[in-house]
Amino acid sequence: MPDPPSASGPTMARALQALGEQLQAETTCPLCLELFSRPMLTACGHSLCSSCAQDLLGSPPRPTACPQCRAIIEPGSLRMSPLRTH
Ligand SMILES: [Zn+2]
Ligand SMILES: [Zn+2]
Repeated sequence: MPDPPSASGPTMARALQALGEQLQAETTCPLCLELFSRPMLTACGHSLCSSCAQDLLGSPPRPTACPQCRAIIEPGSLRMSPLRTH
């Protein structure tokens, strides 16, 4: 990655901060605000930890609005997220 021009320093800092917040959002469950231990990926591209996904869909599982974008999550559409956790 090339060094940014010095004139764009403050903008770059803001962009990096936004990127950091985005990364944080992608590794933190929007429901319980914990770091994912076993993230599940919805069809709309959002992640939930598996226990929150179960709570959200209920028992028996039924279609539920995504807490992030309000798209309907079908119970069978959740899949293991490719996010790596250690
Ligand atoms: Zn959670
Ligand atoms: Zn969503």
